[in-house]
Amino acid sequence: MKAVIVNPKAKSNIEVIEKELRPLKSGEALVDVEYCGVCHTDLHVASGDFGNVEGRILGHEGIGIVSKVANDVTSLSIGDRVSIAWMFHACGRCEYCTTGRETFCRNVQNAGYSVDGGMAEQCIVKADYAVKVPDGLDPAQASSITCAGVTTYKAIKVSDIKAGQWIVIYGCGGLGNLAIQYAKHVFNAKVIAVDINDDKLALAKEIGADMIINPITQGDADKIIQEQLGGAHAAVVTAVSKAAFNSAVDAVRACGKVVAVGLPSETMDLNIPRLVLDGIEVIGSLVGTRKDLEEAFQFGAEGKVVPIVQTRCLHEVKDVFEEMEQGKIQGRMVIDFKQHECK
Ligand SMILES: [Zn+2]
Ligand SMILES: [Zn+2]
Repeated sequence: MKAVIVNPKAKSNIEVIEKELRPLKSGEALVDVEYCGVCHTDLHVASGDFGNVEGRILGHEGIGIVSKVANDVTSLSIGDRVSIAWMFHACGRCEYCTTGRETFCRNVQNAGYSVDGGMAEQCIVKADYAVKVPDGLDPAQASSITCAGVTTYKAIKVSDIKAGQWIVIYGCGGLGNLAIQYAKHVFNAKVIAVDINDDKLALAKEIGADMIINPITQGDADKIIQEQLGGAHAAVVTAVSKAAFNSAVDAVRACGKVVAVGLPSETMDLNIPRLVLDGIEVIGSLVGTRKDLEEAFQFGAEGKVVPIVQTRCLHEVKDVFEEMEQGKIQGRMVIDFKQHECK
């Protein structure tokens, strides 16, 4: 089968190779991959930012059909459509796994990083950790929900936003556009979208943002939000920018929550009197549990959230990595593993 692996010596640090998978072990299933999205995290993994994983098959936004199961597997059947997500497997026994916080398991395995992922024609999954994709959800769109969708859905859950309250989403790219849709159409919140790119803000407006702010042309988002609304009830930061994190802390009202999702390798400023006197909470949120993904898929199947995806041929995978590196992509590029010829 064909697989996209990490190769630090190749262009974009990736290479398409022929690879044979080992036989299934207890508890595992074989998935014939249909689609796998390309995520910023893949760029970090490929360039060795999280350590050298040369030879690893990339991909944690995989969707495919189960074609084989080990004898002891009862949770999946042949023909099921399932996900291959970043949260690939956890220990199932620790204090995090047994209290609904399995993404923080200290022994978690991540697809496309610590184990081979879904950017290949086939992938071996742990059957109990592969989440079924509901009928009625387009599989290419589902691939985007497997990472960006569940991550933003979970972040909004963590923000504790209530219907009718104001939430500000910093960054309206691949993650942000889904955050806006979940906040607006699932949580019934009022949404403020902040981005420095007018095209992304126009898209934000189209998909439901009640208010849009470009800090470059309109001034500080936090000041505008405080002046016009007395502060937002919560903020979710998907932007990979320290300035956005700092602005979010100043944009929320007393007892507001700031949920960190974007991952700039920097520190943020936290004014201690502001935290204490205004009871501000700052919380990190990491992807989502299997249950979160099941829910995030369901809202996609109901049409409340529509990921913006474009399918690409495997031959173009290096181009996709390059375009992503250069920030040229709106929504998500998804590699089509069923298509063997370029269109
Ligand atoms: Zn991802
Ligand atoms: Zn655990």
